[in-house]
Amino acid sequence: MSWRATVITLYPEMFPGPLGQSLAGRAMEQGIWSLEARQMREHGLGRHRAVDDTPFGGGAGMVLRADVVDAALNDCVDERPVVVLTPRGAPLDQQSVRRLAAGPGVVLLCGRFEGIDQRVIEARNLTEISIGDYILSGGETAALVLLDACVRLLPGVMGAMESAEEESFSHGLLEYPHYTRPAEWNGRAVPDILLSGNHAAIAAWRLAQSKAITRARRPDLWAAHVAGHPTTQV
Ligand code: SAH
Repeated sequence: MSWRATVITLYPEMFPGPLGQSLAGRAMEQGIWSLEARQMREHGLGRHRAVDDTPFGGGAGMVLRADVVDAALNDCVDERPVVVLTPRGAPLDQQSVRRLAAGPGVVLLCGRFEGIDQRVIEARNLTEISIGDYILSGGETAALVLLDACVRLLPGVMGAMESAEEESFSHGLLEYPHYTRPAEWNGRAVPDILLSGNHAAIAAWRLAQSKAITRARRPDLWAAHVAGHPTTQV
């Protein structure tokens, strides 16, 4: 059974977009996953198919109506989790990506304007996910990010599964630096150890690099790593 993504959006033309190319695009052609983008406006009200209205309490902007969003969701809920993309959601991380990729697929709800009426989020107990601490103009690009991260983990999508194993975040550390030919470029040599052929020494060097870069750049990840590995030297 292939992994199924349904996106509810005012801009279905934005899909599959970049996900029709490269790794994800090939996987889609092979039937490993499928993507359906649905026009929320089909459930809009009146002659103009209105989907939004002004916020109660006043203020700038418009809010997507609970009744319209609810009708759009009615059309496509099944056993898949329903995720609403919102800056107020839990931060997307590799752990939640792995969990979503291991399931049957996902239904993604893309906000626009000021966002979505809170009542439909609560009534349907939707999972709120954010892709980071910044504001996008709509949930579509966030949905593309989430889908990209999930699809590459589906069985058969990435050539060598170990490349997913070693990546940043897989073990709670950022990845070590990579080098390829030429061995010397513009007066810069690659680290000698990588040319040594000593696989144990290379693995140890890479782990040390991972730790150093995580400690320097991401004190939050480093603290979590140290807490989970009491023997690690701080
Ligand atoms: N007024 C809202 C922002 C609305 S942005 C606030 O301050 O929280 C419009 C839509 O873009 C949102 O409904 C959401 O679907 C999407 N969006 C914006 N930033 C996002 C982020 N960091 N992660 C996920 N979705 C985001």
